[in-house]
Amino acid sequence: MATDLKSTVYLPRTDFPMKAGLAKREPELLQRWAKLDLYKRLREQSKGAEKFILHDGPPYANGNLHIGHALNKILKDVVVRSQQMTGKDANYVPGWDCHGLPVEWKIEEKYRAKKQDKDQVPVTEFRQECRDFAAHWIDIQREEFKRLGVIGDWDNPYTTMTFAAEAQIVRELGKFIMNGMLYRGAKPVMWSVVEKTALAEAEVEYHDHTSNTIWVKFSVTAASRPEFEDASVVIWTTTPWTIPGNRAIAFNEDADYVCLEITGTEEDAAAKAGERIIVAGPLADQVKADCGITVAQEIARFKGADLAGTLCAHPFRGQGYEFDVPLLAADFVEMETGTGFVHVAPGHGADDWELGIANGITVPETVGGDGLYFGHVPLFAGIHVFKADMAVIEALEDANALLAKGKISHSYPHSWRSKAPLIYRNTPQWFISMETGDLRKTALAAIEATAFYPASGRTRLRGMIETRPDWCVSRQRAWGVPITVFVDKKSGEPLRDEAVLARITDAIEAEGADAWFTSKPERFLGPGRDPDDFEQVSDILDVWFDSGSTHSFVLEQRDDLQWPASMYLEGSDQHRGWFHSSLLESCGTRGRAPYDAVLTHGFVLDEKGDKMSKSGGNSLSPQDVIAQNGADILRLWVVGTDYTEEPRFGPETIKQQTDSYRRLRNTLRFLLGNLAGFDEAEKLPEGEMPELERWVLHRLHTMGAMIRSAGGRFDYHQIFIELHNFCTLELSAFYLDIRKDTLYCDRADSSLRRAARTTLDHIFNCLVRWLAPILCFTAEEAWLARHPGEETSVHLQQFPELPAAWSDPALAEKWEKIRKVRRVVTGALERERAEKRIGSSLEAHPKVYLEGELKSVMAGIDAAEIFITSGATLEAGTAPADAFTLDDVPGVGVANGRADGEKCVRCYRILPEVPAHADDGICGRCTDAVANFPAAAE
Ligand SMILES: [Zn+2]
Repeated sequence: MATDLKSTVYLPRTDFPMKAGLAKREPELLQRWAKLDLYKRLREQSKGAEKFILHDGPPYANGNLHIGHALNKILKDVVVRSQQMTGKDANYVPGWDCHGLPVEWKIEEKYRAKKQDKDQVPVTEFRQECRDFAAHWIDIQREEFKRLGVIGDWDNPYTTMTFAAEAQIVRELGKFIMNGMLYRGAKPVMWSVVEKTALAEAEVEYHDHTSNTIWVKFSVTAASRPEFEDASVVIWTTTPWTIPGNRAIAFNEDADYVCLEITGTEEDAAAKAGERIIVAGPLADQVKADCGITVAQEIARFKGADLAGTLCAHPFRGQGYEFDVPLLAADFVEMETGTGFVHVAPGHGADDWELGIANGITVPETVGGDGLYFGHVPLFAGIHVFKADMAVIEALEDANALLAKGKISHSYPHSWRSKAPLIYRNTPQWFISMETGDLRKTALAAIEATAFYPASGRTRLRGMIETRPDWCVSRQRAWGVPITVFVDKKSGEPLRDEAVLARITDAIEAEGADAWFTSKPERFLGPGRDPDDFEQVSDILDVWFDSGSTHSFVLEQRDDLQWPASMYLEGSDQHRGWFHSSLLESCGTRGRAPYDAVLTHGFVLDEKGDKMSKSGGNSLSPQDVIAQNGADILRLWVVGTDYTEEPRFGPETIKQQTDSYRRLRNTLRFLLGNLAGFDEAEKLPEGEMPELERWVLHRLHTMGAMIRSAGGRFDYHQIFIELHNFCTLELSAFYLDIRKDTLYCDRADSSLRRAARTTLDHIFNCLVRWLAPILCFTAEEAWLARHPGEETSVHLQQFPELPAAWSDPALAEKWEKIRKVRRVVTGALERERAEKRIGSSLEAHPKVYLEGELKSVMAGIDAAEIFITSGATLEAGTAPADAFTLDDVPGVGVANGRADGEKCVRCYRILPEVPAHADDGICGRCTDAVANFPAAAE
């Protein structure tokens, strides 16, 4: 083609590059937003609008971000940006959780490395080190979160360790002191002897653990039936070290039990002929096998209820264990394993404790916080429980009470931090009662009033609240908010005095929580009270109480937010963590949940479906992906996976997302390139547009409705899928492909080209906004390519309100049929190309046979334009047998033919009108376009 002719083709022109270069481009856009003060502008712009408050669940400030953080924060950002673009004021205030074991543990590790004893460091010095450590990581994580594109009040985030927050947490605790829901009880709690503290459910992990098992005989000393005299009740346990704490034996009232007289045993069995033992009937054979009993005679068979009133001796009777061991009915005794009798140590199990309390048994304190038996425990004083099993087993053998021993591998609770096995230990702890003040009932009602996404979250949280024990809020640690309680030594009750609480919170507001540890009690107790009459509690609060109170010092106290939150959004583990503690805290103090809705996402797995772990070598970090591919790829990954399940993450996933990204980017680039120079004057009203353009407008209208409805369900995965399909299948492979010819070759003022460019403008205006919450960087880059300016940003726009007149379902139905016909033609042309009969589709002139209504559907349609061929003939009726067909599109057959004429060197169409034997022959349309090319404007 002659050079001058080539210059008359309207090829796309844009500065929006094909290659994204996100790793370099994104930091520039972040700077731009900082300069623009985008966050502040959004607040000003949406002042007075309905608020949507996503309250940030605070991450721990103790390390670099991992992929789970990235998923969580990006998803939050997509929610916040989407809500903002629907016209709300979606103000996001990020926060951090600063107190608690994870930080304290790091400081202790440092001490251990330096061979320093933590207990020798003054508590305020230790707390300061914890504070500095948390502050250091807040700064690092803040930059990492910002780099993900997350928009929020990063200059004024909340933390749980500001003096104001600490004071408010104490105020919240004060409400539980005043309303009587906080009490001190002695109760077995999950205890880590390594960290020397009670642990919350959320701090417990279950791992396989090999335990010693023992079958122990308890001699009957008072029989409820004569057959039991001289017999022994046999218990089975996996925790031999709890035998010194034994105070009772539990049985199942409704189960069958038998009294057996042993008549034959294996050679090495501890059991002896002539002994009588009592076990559950359904488990008798198993017990016999386990204990090497070969023959036994059933003396009696009876119901568990008949055992009531029976007393046994502790196996160590005569050695300081002189108390009676009663047999008690309990509903937790099952007939699955063991002997049908459960050894009850009320200091070492929740069920045991309740049974003991219900039957008036004094709960013994046997084991100290360091894991050693107390000095008052006969036979075992000073032994560590982790090493006590053998000592107990030997003592049982010496007492002739051991019937058998073995080992079992089972799931056992461990500390999530030190990974050490946990024990149940009876300690004085502070609890928030689930029953005083009807906390359980209030919380269950609050769950019903909350929206859950996905809905299964409701069942999960309800199940936990229904069965949970009282909330143990005390920890024997240093880095946290103190339990600011004075206990009246005479009554044992917490001092309930608003004036005292006010003095405490005033001091903490001014000096931080350290004030509790450094001040003399007189300062708080005030005149007229003798400090010697009170015990000042030195425990700190469960860190879940801190984060469970964030709603009070963030949502309630900031003028730019509101209480309750519109939404809490976290990983599904927070049903027993933050969702849970916030619910209880708020229900106990305010009678309802601090949120209207809860959204959960799953845990990120690697591409094989395994847990992400640093040691496993499968952890591609978010920082790696950002440096290589850009944050927008991560953001696309978040919505590109079903985040309610367990999203997969790894190099292959990133590659797929990069491909998806490229398709979206290319669509934007095509639109931008073909909108070069487009202005208002060129716009065509939709009434003057061809059907194809009106079909696109209809599709935009349906997409807009979908984005609103799926966005209302926070289903961004669906939005991603539909947007992606719209761009690739309907725009790139159909509409834009068809209109390339018009856009490139028609004269600038042709109404068809104007209609197409107007439609491109509409598409761009919609797409760039719809993509903005997801691809926040790329959408901004595209926006600026079309709307350059210092003061503008796509993030200051709202989702478009599309005219109802664009909706045309009848037209859409018709064009669905046309697209089906086109699919058959495209298939036929692909075959022609594969068999080298044609090069481009413009060399073809297919003959299309249409049955039934399809001929009338195609009436008035420029078929060649739709097929991207130089000509097309439509025939009513059945296609010849050799025509091309597709099984799923009945009634359409295509016979191929070549286009007649010469090739126009400008538009490549083959038309009879193009002069033959001319090197620069062009068609009539092109002649007209060249003649009217706006040379002056160039
Ligand atoms: Zn032409």
